[in-house]
Amino acid sequence: MEHHADLIVLGAGQSGLATAALAPRHGFARALVLESADQVGGSWPRYYDSLTLFSPARYSSLPGMRFSGDGDRYPTRDEVVDYLRAYVRRLDADIRTSTTVTSVQPRDGAWVIRAEDGAAFTARAVVAATGAFRSPYTPAVPGCEEFAGQSLHAADYRAPEPFTGQRVVVVGGGNSAVQIAAELGAVAETTLASRRPIGWVKQRPLGRDIHWWLRRTGFDIAPLSRMLEKVPVSVLDDGRYRRALDTHGVERREMFARLTPDGVVWADGAKEPVDTVIWATGYRLAYPYLNGSGVLGTDGRPRHHGGIATVPGLGFVGIEFQRSFSSNTLRGVGRDAAHVLSRLSRSR
Ligand SMILES: Cc1cc2nc3c(=O)[nH]c(=O)nc-3n(C[C@H](O)[C@H](O)[C@H](O)COP(=O)(O)OP(=O)(O)OC[C@H]3O[C@@H](n4cnc5c(N)ncnc54)[C@H](O)[C@@H]3O)c2cc1C
Repeated sequence: MEHHADLIVLGAGQSGLATAALAPRHGFARALVLESADQVGGSWPRYYDSLTLFSPARYSSLPGMRFSGDGDRYPTRDEVVDYLRAYVRRLDADIRTSTTVTSVQPRDGAWVIRAEDGAAFTARAVVAATGAFRSPYTPAVPGCEEFAGQSLHAADYRAPEPFTGQRVVVVGGGNSAVQIAAELGAVAETTLASRRPIGWVKQRPLGRDIHWWLRRTGFDIAPLSRMLEKVPVSVLDDGRYRRALDTHGVERREMFARLTPDGVVWADGAKEPVDTVIWATGYRLAYPYLNGSGVLGTDGRPRHHGGIATVPGLGFVGIEFQRSFSSNTLRGVGRDAAHVLSRLSRSR
């Protein structure tokens, strides 16, 4: 039997929870949230142990609930997990964990959602908020298949200890690459490999956190800010990561040309043995459950405008640069969720 709901939200991470929280304000009945993990909070519990937010607590809240404590501090990963769990306790939504959605297809002006365990649901409106963390991206580098050392994506990195005494190369030029290289440097001989020099951005220009400036100038939510998607990634730093790299002698080198069975060949031709390569090379959006729905382009990417799918009744929340620079951040996802819900409610 198909269970019917007014609104079905896929994923109980920050994007799905913000969407469920705002649903009643847009005329939807209590949302049904389907989550494949056995707990809520999305990918936050799986991020590396030392992760702290790049935005201060006062700029890191979802709609309707502030981060408690000092607004100027940078909350830790575990604080975010606790915050999301507390958010759920106040949420009026029906959340079904351990429910992996395998298919979402349009039928007679509604959507049919099927789960791995055989459960089936229908809804007038669906919001896909399943994130990108399950699709880590690793570039195809010559020699990858020959390399006999350890090769792992940053999605599987937790802490530096297992790499103690090793020779490690961290690939990437963004926050994750720099933070992981900075802490690995204390226990392992570490090199940071990136295609371009690191683009450092000050955390506190002119004495104020950069998020204060982004909010004050309106840049954070300006549609124009989406243009930053085309700009090479940069690294936000209050000085601590640069200091750590210097202190531990972590060198940045141009991306290696290839891997060999026991190491890398650098761009200048020098060979070096390496125990582990860590790929901090980002994520790609993937919505396998939408195959055959008419929503995905030939490249597998969703076809949407600001989160509204080209097939009616479906929306997306949590896509990077979905509507602005702050899309897919704790501070920005609520704004996108409100936009998507208001459009979906109008088209019912
Ligand atoms: C290392 C790292 C650091 C970051 N740091 C910050 C930061 O400091 N500040 C900030 O604002 N943002 C940060 N972000 C960006 C962003 O806020 C997080 O990635 C956030 O977790 C994204 O939330 P989400 O809800 O969109 O996706 P997720 O947290 O990935 O949640 C998606 C949920 O969908 C579920 N799901 C997936 N597929 C299915 C399916 N088929 N059926 C049912 N459920 C499914 C998953 O189990 C998961 O629970 C960071 C991201 C990364 C990777």
